[in-house]
Amino acid sequence: MTTFKNTLAYAQQLDAADGLRAYRSLFNFPQHHGRDVIYFTGNSLGLQLKRSRDYVNEVMDDWAQLGVEGHFKADKPWWDYHERFANPLGKLMGALPSEVSVMNTLTVNLHLLLASFYQPTAQRFKIICEEKAFPSDQYMLQTQVEWHGLDPKEAIIEVKRREGSALIDEADILQAIAEAGDSLALVLWGGVNYYSGQVFDMARIAQAAHAVGAYAGFDLAHAAGNITLNLHDWDVDFAAWCSYKYMNAGPGNVSGYFIHEKHHASNLPRLAGWWGQIKNRRFLMEPEFSPEPGALGWQISNQSILALAPYLASVELFDEVGMDRIIEKRNHITAYLEYILLDIAEQTGAHFEIITPTDQKERACQLSVYLHGQGRELFNYLMEQGVVPDWREPNVIRLAPAPLYCSYEDMYQFGQILKAVLVK
Ligand SMILES: *Cc1c(COP(=O)(O)O)cnc(C)c1O
Repeated sequence: MTTFKNTLAYAQQLDAADGLRAYRSLFNFPQHHGRDVIYFTGNSLGLQLKRSRDYVNEVMDDWAQLGVEGHFKADKPWWDYHERFANPLGKLMGALPSEVSVMNTLTVNLHLLLASFYQPTAQRFKIICEEKAFPSDQYMLQTQVEWHGLDPKEAIIEVKRREGSALIDEADILQAIAEAGDSLALVLWGGVNYYSGQVFDMARIAQAAHAVGAYAGFDLAHAAGNITLNLHDWDVDFAAWCSYKYMNAGPGNVSGYFIHEKHHASNLPRLAGWWGQIKNRRFLMEPEFSPEPGALGWQISNQSILALAPYLASVELFDEVGMDRIIEKRNHITAYLEYILLDIAEQTGAHFEIITPTDQKERACQLSVYLHGQGRELFNYLMEQGVVPDWREPNVIRLAPAPLYCSYEDMYQFGQILKAVLVK
């Protein structure tokens, strides 16, 4: 491991050498007594990119000046505004431009994707997911199964953590898939677990699912803008993600989705709307649905352009910076945060247990920390001191040092604030 130091001068030296340093000033930070907060919740709601306001204003101005004609006459016409995402978002997801697009919100898209990819039969009806998946995913799966007249207790197989571990062993996933065999319709997994920060090998999971004839879909809420993705080459069938976590597109904003090329010409059932109609016939208002080729054929409604605008600003920034540089800093700053936490624990005798994997291949931009003997008061104290972590019952804080805007000095200052309360 690198020989880090827990000093201000050292942290500032790391900032000076940080190739992404300049990007911090592109973001708006909430203020605490006149200073930027130490923001650890980019995994929940990313900070506002200043230029996203210009993108929104552009749409507002076009609407003011053009009215309905903005659909075709705006500089960025609204009728195919979403197609501007295909190239940069495709790169980010490791997908062909034709395999990705944006619409709706994450859980809605998962429901729509399951309309295509979950068609249970008497023989093949089971779904494998992770134990304690994000609640929305649990409700989504339960109600999908019930909607098909099946019992979630029979149809949903949760792969559990091993006794005493906060992580899921990949061997257990592969074993559950093999055991379910030809009763398995679908594996629906998170690319990065929201609670522990564990990163999963999606290619292996997809391969195992395909080996028994099932589909593999992924919820990439905590993966988009955080890890390297190669959805096409990994042979993932479908995926969806939100834009407001690491992608900084604003509260509750639009979701992205991926549908592998191999399914584009298949006759999978789908729930359609006019925005999925083939482009050159969309406005002929014909009764027959002929989908646009590719992921675009799954579009439903005309797009919320005001919502897409800040997402486009963000996707273009990610494209400009490139995931490789983001990941390089992500690994380094997360390691520095880990070092600070362990050093402060040693200095104060506090007992923190980092449940996120220590292996960099199995984690990304998040450390989830059990605060043994410390409760919500510690969290409240941190908030009062201008630190914004995330709290999960019973006593876990999640810290995500988003590499585009967090500094090494933030990590150092956080350590000092933590130390001050622990030695009291
Ligand atoms: C944040 C998150 C969601 C949120 O879903 P929305 O439909 O955007 O509210 C869903 N799944 C996971 C795994 C998440 O982390």
